[in-house]
Amino acid sequence: MTHVDVHPLVSPWGRFGLYSFFIDAPEPAIVDTGIATSPAEGMAPALEAIGRRIEDVRWILLTHGHIDHLGGAHALWELTGRRAQVVVHEADAPFLRSRRAHVDEYLDGRGQYLHDPEGEQKQIATGEAAISGELEPTVLVTGGETLSLGGDVKVSVHAIPGHTAGSVAYVLDGQNAVLVGDGVQVHGAANAFPSYVDPVAYRSSLRYLRDVIRPQNLYLGHPYRTAEGVPYGVELDAEQARAALQQSLDIEARIDDAAWRRLRQGLQETHSPYSPFAAVAEELGYHGDPTLEPSPFFTTMHGYRTSFADEPAGTTGSSFA
Ligand SMILES: [Zn+2]
Repeated sequence: MTHVDVHPLVSPWGRFGLYSFFIDAPEPAIVDTGIATSPAEGMAPALEAIGRRIEDVRWILLTHGHIDHLGGAHALWELTGRRAQVVVHEADAPFLRSRRAHVDEYLDGRGQYLHDPEGEQKQIATGEAAISGELEPTVLVTGGETLSLGGDVKVSVHAIPGHTAGSVAYVLDGQNAVLVGDGVQVHGAANAFPSYVDPVAYRSSLRYLRDVIRPQNLYLGHPYRTAEGVPYGVELDAEQARAALQQSLDIEARIDDAAWRRLRQGLQETHSPYSPFAAVAEELGYHGDPTLEPSPFFTTMHGYRTSFADEPAGTTGSSFA
């Protein structure tokens, strides 16, 4: 199979660097799209610098439905003359179709704990500014599909739920280059806490990547941090990929352990900014600002709270990695 190059394309956004990846296939693909301004301001000049044209892109592959990954999708699709296929997992497709879906997700999850009276308005404003347009995907996936990028270049789609319900990994067949977006969190990015809505699914997706996929190269959506707080780059070799997956599992196990023991005692409303999960933050020694959006601490704690509520009565503990 022909070896194809994968190029990171960076677009700035506030505290974050947003990473998209260009797959230099006969039918070129871009994995993740940043926000509304990213295609014109970040991707087009970066592609020009390597002698490629944004209008030739034929595949827009979305790893998941967060604003900073799909906000630029409509703008990019327009720049391709609406000829690119737009691929997303069906569980995250509502976030591509509707700005409102992002607001509702906020209100149903982390927004419950942030007690910000302007939270909903801020989310609406962010969606207006950062999402270039509402868009119906052309290809809905659930994992297990293979996409042909022209010639003998193929990308297989693997469901890796956890960070979101519809997170996927795109794997370049033959060279085992694996693009996961935010599916591998290690210690998180700017807020120094990993973000996942479903801890049980996150754990099994990490094991699947570590034990079954075994990436030769792993491409991350942000420079996630190690235990020492040092960011990984976004392009990892096989050894770094294995370390990042193992560290992600180890951290999840620590959080699971603390959350399980503390949340069993019930939620405790206090004046702490971590309320009602202050005991978990204290046990983990977490000192980050939990109100900084996208607020991974509350997203993840809500995930544990929900998953424990789903456990059948009489269960004595959750599984440990
Ligand atoms: Zn994300």
